[in-house]
Amino acid sequence: MPYIAMARKWRPRSFSEMVGQEHIAQTLKNAITTGNIHHAFLFSGTRGVGKTTSARILAAMLNCTAASEQKPCGQCESCKAITAGLSMDVMEMDAASNNGVDDMREVLENTQYPPMNSKYRVLIIDEVHALSKPAWYSMLKTLEEPPSYLVFIFATTDPNKIPATILSRVLCFDFKRLSSLQISKRLAFICEQEGIKVAPEALSIISEKADGSMRDALTIFDEVFAYSGNSITAESAQKALGIPPDALYVELIKAFEAHDAKGSFAILEKATLAGAEVQVFLDGFIRFLRNFLYARLGISAEQLEISPESLDSLKKLAPELEQGDILRISKMIMELSEKCSAKHGLNPRLIAEAEFSKIAWLDRVVNINEALKNISNVPLNKENQKKIGGFASTSGGTSSPSSSSGTNASTSIGTSSASSVRLNI
Ligand SMILES: [Zn+2]
Repeated sequence: MPYIAMARKWRPRSFSEMVGQEHIAQTLKNAITTGNIHHAFLFSGTRGVGKTTSARILAAMLNCTAASEQKPCGQCESCKAITAGLSMDVMEMDAASNNGVDDMREVLENTQYPPMNSKYRVLIIDEVHALSKPAWYSMLKTLEEPPSYLVFIFATTDPNKIPATILSRVLCFDFKRLSSLQISKRLAFICEQEGIKVAPEALSIISEKADGSMRDALTIFDEVFAYSGNSITAESAQKALGIPPDALYVELIKAFEAHDAKGSFAILEKATLAGAEVQVFLDGFIRFLRNFLYARLGISAEQLEISPESLDSLKKLAPELEQGDILRISKMIMELSEKCSAKHGLNPRLIAEAEFSKIAWLDRVVNINEALKNISNVPLNKENQKKIGGFASTSGGTSSPSSSSGTNASTSIGTSSASSVRLNI
């Protein structure tokens, strides 16, 4: 049997299958139940969140002769024609490639006549923001005084480009980006139905990469499935997508903890030799740092979509690093990722190495309670007593570890930076 792309096979056929857009599904269901149908809808939102799919479900619901409250029957003449793309009463137009006034006039011609076999004539226009100004104006009159059988459904990723005169005549629905958890749950359901064994970490990797788009998630899933077959692990998902394994990030964190800049360069080299782009390596590290920090904050393995074993090892990783250190490293890696993606012609690996050495040489954040306790135990001479004005933990600076000899934990005491006394405790 030929393989059918998951995005096609698992495209929702009813409002109840629409992930993450329950608020819209409920409103549309109510409209159909009460028969209170507006003549023009605008579905806006980022790509791959179900706008066109919802438009098709709505069109099918409006014309189905045996629809339940939840979904079109899928069996009547209208449903069959819509599924096969042969319906004369449900028209679809892609404004990205047909945005001229002539294209619009041709479509509007067809709306002059009542539907042939259904209750409504539905005109779905995808990427509607791409229509030219004359095309909009040629539609305006029909939109102002539409025949009772006509329903417009517009879909757009850029509602700001739609003229105000049009916006005031349509019912607007904002489609939300999907959270990683919503995407993972849907993928887990699909895998269960398809009999595919998949690790929670693998789902997390796919949903993070999909960046809020269900359609992208299913396409990425196809890629991973093609590589891994019926049993998908975190490792196979990472290999299929060119993402370095978490073990490498664990090594990198340990190198930073040990102020080992040279070691961090070697890890970057290992990743690039294995075929990972610097950008992909950094993006994966940002995800890893997020999990690392969340594990410290007591977030559960289920919420993080990782195994209890992985959570355990994250909790035990790099005990010398405080949460403040992890936050600082995350911020620096995010800025580094941005720098590397900018098109300035510099070698991303060199920029990454420079930043890695900065991170490796950072002083550590000190727990303020610990610092206070230690300070109270330090006998102060006359000179120091005069100078004491407050406490400040070493939360910044790029001095090398050699400047705070003995231990990494140091606390500054002083009334000003110029007169501060630095005690190593
Ligand atoms: Zn039907």
